[in-house]
Amino acid sequence: FHRSQTSLPDLRERTLIAVKPDGVQRRLVGQIIQRFEQRGFKLVGLKMLQVSEDLLSQHYCELRTKPFYPSLLHYMTSGPVVVMVWEGHNVVQTSRTMVGHTNPAQAQAGTVRGDFSFHVSRNVVHASDSLEGAQREIQLWFQGKDLLNWDCCDQTCTSEA
Ligand code: GDP
Ligand code: MG
Repeated sequence: FHRSQTSLPDLRERTLIAVKPDGVQRRLVGQIIQRFEQRGFKLVGLKMLQVSEDLLSQHYCELRTKPFYPSLLHYMTSGPVVVMVWEGHNVVQTSRTMVGHTNPAQAQAGTVRGDFSFHVSRNVVHASDSLEGAQREIQLWFQGKDLLNWDCCDQTCTSEA
């Protein structure tokens, strides 16, 4: 490919994706990972954990005053989650599109929520909603050493502009 100095995409953008407890219980982890792999994004961090209320209250700090907040905490601590960092051009916005509307009743078919859920209280997956949000959440959930900078062998076919 001819490399234009000005039009190279930012391939380093990262976002945080989590399979919530209902997604883990329903054995959807593989299908969700598959969608991000098949889109061409690069996995740079992955772990499974039982989340603490302390971590969740930081993760969802903007929602503290919402009426559903106590039930959200209960839901998110009801079992293990699988949390991931995915990397690639425009990954924050594209992931939101792939995940679908917060309320599964409004999520398009073909999105994770549109294909696997029907109610906002059990919507299977989390995706960061902005670049700033992604950076904040990645720092909250992962230590720098647990995010890997690695060269993907097919980068030139899947990531060049
Ligand atoms: P998201 O970024 O699409 O996940 O949506 P928000 O950041 O607005 O909300 C975070 C999470 O809180 C959602 O994914 C839902 O799990 C939950 N949530 C949001 N709104 C509601 C609601 O009205 N009722 C309930 N029970 N949960 C909600
Ligand atoms: Mg959100």
